[in-house]
Amino acid sequence: MTTHRAWARSRESVPVDHTEAEVIAQAAAALDGAEPEAILAWAFARYGDGVTLACSFGGVSGMVLMDMVQRLQPSAEVFYLDTDYLFPETYAMVEAAPQRWPGARVVGYKTDVTPEQQAAQHGAALWERDPDLCCEIRKIEPNRRALAGKQAWISGLRRDQSAERADTPAVQWDAKFGLVKLNPLINWDEKRVWAYIFANNVPYNPLHDQGYPSIGCTNCTKAVAPGDDPRSGRWSGQDKTECGLHTEP
Ligand code: SF4
Repeated sequence: MTTHRAWARSRESVPVDHTEAEVIAQAAAALDGAEPEAILAWAFARYGDGVTLACSFGGVSGMVLMDMVQRLQPSAEVFYLDTDYLFPETYAMVEAAPQRWPGARVVGYKTDVTPEQQAAQHGAALWERDPDLCCEIRKIEPNRRALAGKQAWISGLRRDQSAERADTPAVQWDAKFGLVKLNPLINWDEKRVWAYIFANNVPYNPLHDQGYPSIGCTNCTKAVAPGDDPRSGRWSGQDKTECGLHTEP
């Protein structure tokens, strides 16, 4: 596993060309009710290793997709964003991945801004005062670098996760990052994801068994009570529900 640290900035909305827009629209319609493997197979047939998987090693959706990608296109890159604030359990998941999937191309991307430099420049605990800026530095910019030169990326978004995600298509143009975005799990719910995990003996983050249904950075993730909204432990007490990776530019 390697970790990339270089900088690259480009924040404009990137338009899609007419031909690709038509292909995406047709695929989104054709694959709307499709199983995840069919959506992934379409993407790998069209873009090959130009497809990359974003896997946080926190959520179970990402682990399901990791397993599917290793079966369908093991040469495709799988990346995670190392914010410097991941849980030890999450870093352990990254380290253990080659045991389960030998040969998997797992790459970590992180900002050049150390936690100490961030505190010196913006003050201590930026995530409490301006979490959007903290996510911009530690997630969005590294994500932009992870996607540079790729043609499509795979996310673990599901329609059942939140109201904001309820209309997510199977295939879409991501104007924020300037490439195709695939959402193979849109039609699955929590139950189906866990069923796949257990049926295929896929490893998952042990924090799920300790009250953390949604796992991000240590600073911004809390355990939730049984029955509570699974994402209510993320940025708890703040007017923020998304890190910005999946929102419009
Ligand atoms: S989730 Fe919290 S700590 Fe992590 S990058 Fe975003 S604001 Fe910063």
